[in-house]
Amino acid sequence: MTESVSAPDTSGIRSTDGDLIIMGPPGVGKGTQAKALAQENGWVQLSTGEVFRDHIRRQTDLGSRVKGYLERGEYVPDDVTIRMVRAKLEDISPSTRVLFDGFPRTVAQAEALDRLSDEMGRQVGAVLLLDAPREALLARLNGRATAEHRADDTPEIIANRLEVYEEQTRPVISYYEDRGLVKRVSAVGSVPEITARLREAAE
Ligand code: ADP
Repeated sequence: MTESVSAPDTSGIRSTDGDLIIMGPPGVGKGTQAKALAQENGWVQLSTGEVFRDHIRRQTDLGSRVKGYLERGEYVPDDVTIRMVRAKLEDISPSTRVLFDGFPRTVAQAEALDRLSDEMGRQVGAVLLLDAPREALLARLNGRATAEHRADDTPEIIANRLEVYEEQTRPVISYYEDRGLVKRVSAVGSVPEITARLREAAE
């Protein structure tokens, strides 16, 4: 895995197609799809939620800082999230395509990603936006609560996460729409059907 050891090349070389961001409300299946796409294409998936959960499991300092936020279904403060993403990106060559999953979730994070990308010779190439009706999201989130025992999947927390998404993350979609980067993909259908739609949108 050369991308995890090589230092970022800031000499102005950018990856040809740019990085990808996968977005969509909680329960839309972002994580599953991001994993499939990254694996089949050799991209690096950077899932901020997964990284935070991993720190919590390993009981690191970062883990203890973010645990409460995840349990309440609230966003981790931007400065903490941005610092973590910066550290991750520092280990990835700019020629390796990154698929951001769960980041950026606020306009401040999107602005920070632009600054980081400039600094590191990267750029955002496209935003894949997964869309599904609210009933489908609720059904999936409630199902996952039982299957995975995630602390942030109780009914109250689920409702809170959907609300936080509407308030904080909708504006991020507009931020990228203004730059013509957003590609909408329906998240209704089977997992492979949705992967195929995303594959096409990412080309
Ligand atoms: P989902 O896609 O189901 O919303 P994630 O795994 O992406 O779940 O995120 C789980 C939790 O991790 C969020 O509810 C939030 O507390 C925290 N988190 C993940 N990414 C971010 C981010 N970019 N900014 C702030 N908090 C985040």
